[in-house]
Amino acid sequence: MMEMRTKEPIVIAIDGTSASGKSTNSKRVAKALHFVHVDTGAMYRTLAWYCLRHGIDVRDAQGVGAACWRWKTALQCVGATAYLTVEGYHPATEIRTAEVSAAVPHVAAVPKVREWMKCKQRECLKFGSLVMEGRDIGTNVFPETEFKYFLDARIEERSRRRAAEGVKEDLAERDWRDSQRASAPLMIALGAKVINNSEMTSEQTSSLILEDVRKRLAQAGDKAGRLAASRVSQ
Ligand code: C5P
Repeated sequence: MMEMRTKEPIVIAIDGTSASGKSTNSKRVAKALHFVHVDTGAMYRTLAWYCLRHGIDVRDAQGVGAACWRWKTALQCVGATAYLTVEGYHPATEIRTAEVSAAVPHVAAVPKVREWMKCKQRECLKFGSLVMEGRDIGTNVFPETEFKYFLDARIEERSRRRAAEGVKEDLAERDWRDSQRASAPLMIALGAKVINNSEMTSEQTSSLILEDVRKRLAQAGDKAGRLAASRVSQ
């Protein structure tokens, strides 16, 4: 597939419910376009893991907020994937445990944490064009992007997908917490293309997103071309 070169970095926001295929599709779309992939869920998971490790009660909003502004982290981009390291360490496998999954919606509900995360996530633009997956990318982190997608699937299908990965988790409970919090809750961004992929393969989901991105880029190119042409003829 062709690399997509644009003057300004582009952000493709892929939000959605848990186990709706955000990760698989974001990675595939990023690879096809040669963009950098950012999993913002992993960033929240890293903070939850850090709190559990340091005995910080994840239900203590003040303690969690203070830890988030104190911990020693760095944003890294390796092989077109951006992630957070803590004191030079990337806890890639540790953040996928059931314990971290249960803790993460609590830390993600803290307004000071969301403020910090938004700052770091916007900083990722320094790596170039992005495919960023999460819960509030289209609504809160990059509301200005015109490339917004919201993935969903029936709860039975999503639970089946998680179980197939060997993970048993109450997804409905996590989605409920994520959509009920006051600060940047999980919701469909205005103008987002909603894709319910219950009956689709992940390849079909990625193709839909890629087709839409290419169509929008072509339309933007046409508009810019027409504007330039009208300036020349004036
Ligand atoms: O995407 P993943 O399931 O790994 O996300 C873990 C959790 O991180 C979510 O359930 C949510 O609580 C939090 N999250 C968030 N905002 C994001 C990404 C993730 O609140 N943009």
